[in-house]
Amino acid sequence: MELRDLTIRTIAEGMRKKTFSAEEVVSAYCATIRRKDAGLHCYLEVFEEYALNEARRLDGSVDAFSDLPPLWGAPIAIKDNMLLEGMHASSASKVLEPYVASYDATAVSRLKKAGAIIIGRTNMDEFAMGSSTENSVCGPTKNPHDPARVPGGSSGGSAAAVAADLAVAALGSDTGGSIRQPASFCGVVGLKPTYGAVSRFGLMAMASSLDQIGPLAKNVDDARLLFDAIKGGDEYDATAVADAPRPDVAGERLRIGLPREYFGAGLDDDIKAVVMGAVKKLELLGHSVKEISLPMSEYALATYYIIMPAEVSANLARYDGIRYGHSAQNAETLFDVYAKSRAEGFGAETKRRVMLGTYILSHGYYDAYYLKAQKVRRRIQDDFRRAFEGVDCIVGPTSPTPAFAFGERTADPLKMYLADIYTVAVNLAGLPALSQNAGFVERGDSRLPVGIQTIAPWFGEERIFSIAGQLERELI
Ligand code: GLN
Repeated sequence: MELRDLTIRTIAEGMRKKTFSAEEVVSAYCATIRRKDAGLHCYLEVFEEYALNEARRLDGSVDAFSDLPPLWGAPIAIKDNMLLEGMHASSASKVLEPYVASYDATAVSRLKKAGAIIIGRTNMDEFAMGSSTENSVCGPTKNPHDPARVPGGSSGGSAAAVAADLAVAALGSDTGGSIRQPASFCGVVGLKPTYGAVSRFGLMAMASSLDQIGPLAKNVDDARLLFDAIKGGDEYDATAVADAPRPDVAGERLRIGLPREYFGAGLDDDIKAVVMGAVKKLELLGHSVKEISLPMSEYALATYYIIMPAEVSANLARYDGIRYGHSAQNAETLFDVYAKSRAEGFGAETKRRVMLGTYILSHGYYDAYYLKAQKVRRRIQDDFRRAFEGVDCIVGPTSPTPAFAFGERTADPLKMYLADIYTVAVNLAGLPALSQNAGFVERGDSRLPVGIQTIAPWFGEERIFSIAGQLERELI
């Protein structure tokens, strides 16, 4: 059996029928990683020994289970900002190079409980800040569809690993698009859950009011299995909720809204054509499609780039050269330890955001920037609330372009930030959204994946899975 044909579901089935063992599955993935990952650089570390031991442990205990848990034997990669006890976790930063996790992130321990095997930690933009994985201190990941192009970011290693069959699925984190945009660039499924649907305990905080852990998978069914395994309340994260009122999956005829603002200037024509082709299929399935307006959309990126760095500057204050990771050796005073450890440990984009955030929160500017941005954030939420009175879900492109070339946007941060123009509003509003492949466009000799994004009301993941599943069946 080819790894390409394996999914979380087929792996668990194979185990149940004893077609193959967990050890065989893990060995096959490790062999493929050894063969392919030098060229792609999806992984910062492969937990080969750990994963093989886990696999043997599962294989040894298999008789005890009449009903295997849903992720049984599935080799899953985790982004390098999530903790697995006893293993390094660095957020692809020099500051955390020596750091070893002393406990499991809740999402990770839930994966383990469901029978998954954590196979390694994947590359990312430093502290999840970026849209291309070029901000990793370890060097970028390459897009499996064209190694001259970025995989997207910041969960680029996770998305590329799934696309290249170096893991059956992976976890990423999404603060402004970091699951959906790389999913779009690599042609896989990526879900950013509702804020509060998945515990953030053990996820290195970037911007706490926006961060969510979510799955990257080969298909909608696998994404759903992963989400179901990791979701729910957690005594270690007060924002994670067990029981939220969920909108119903909604009837067979859904009302789909296409926001005018997501199809305007800046969107590549052929991306628009691919997305509209997928929308047409949804219409043919009996769903109704209408244009809607999210008038505050034009302020989403600006609002995000005020609120996010403000929270980043507060969250990253903990990396002081004393409590975690890298500590400067040549420091004479305590202040020197802080200043030098941070100067040596953080990369350029991280420093830019810490400085921006500190400025935004400083006396005299707080009202003008931070408070104002919070007010606009509320208006953005209101936009969605109003829209969902007339439609069941919102559909549009995930990113305005396909994967871009290395170096194309690194010189101009604003250009890089534009890659998230259609994803950040969802985080500001705390909504769930999924990106899946809708087709391909050509750039030079390359055939590049195009993502389509489905947004639902708060805790409407089931509705998303339903519509995304229908679309997937039509597109295959
Ligand atoms: N690309 C966006 C940024 O740079 C989003 C990052 C993320 O979702 N972690 O902030």
